[in-house]
Amino acid sequence: MSHEVILLMGPPGAGKGTQADRLAQGRSLFKLSTGDLLRANVRAGTPLGQRAKVIMDAGGLVSDEIIIAMVRDELRNRPLRLLLDGFPRTRAQAEALDELLAELGASLSAAVLLEVDEAELIKRLQSRAALEGRSDDNEATIRNRMRVYAEQTQPLLDYYQAQGKLRRVNGLASIDEVTAAISEVLS
Ligand code: AMP
Repeated sequence: MSHEVILLMGPPGAGKGTQADRLAQGRSLFKLSTGDLLRANVRAGTPLGQRAKVIMDAGGLVSDEIIIAMVRDELRNRPLRLLLDGFPRTRAQAEALDELLAELGASLSAAVLLEVDEAELIKRLQSRAALEGRSDDNEATIRNRMRVYAEQTQPLLDYYQAQGKLRRVNGLASIDEVTAAISEVLS
């Protein structure tokens, strides 16, 4: 099968996790989630996990250096059929990804953005917090994650737009409709 590397982007609460699983399965892509990799390190109690946990609990970003090394490692000897979930999140990570793929003789196929307006996001995150009985601490974390997204990750939209790779999808529709809309923009 030919190379395909798709990046799924969207603010916290946009439904990225659900769509990432569906997209990976539907297109036979390996889902590479830096959040999952970090959580596995936290569970295993590795030195990396111990450092990352503090940052993740606060809703901050783990350093570019750590993330890029982790991704580089993960891509070794793997077919380039990837669905990237939660990476890249910064300009430095996006540039490192482009370099890494170029070294491997490939390039990013598309960056799909799940668009959800902010009022709706806050509503979703609040009802999720209420359902899961999250503490104020977690609400503070969520707010911080949204701020970090706006400041560090949103500028990547311009980066991918300039490369002609950005595809926007309305993230407010039903789960099935969003899945269909993603297939549509990728066809
Ligand atoms: P996620 O499951 O993708 O929402 O990631 C959970 C947390 O892991 C984030 O809030 C960050 O603290 C950290 N993290 C995941 N991916 C990255 C990344 N690409 N760069 C920096 N931090 C990350």
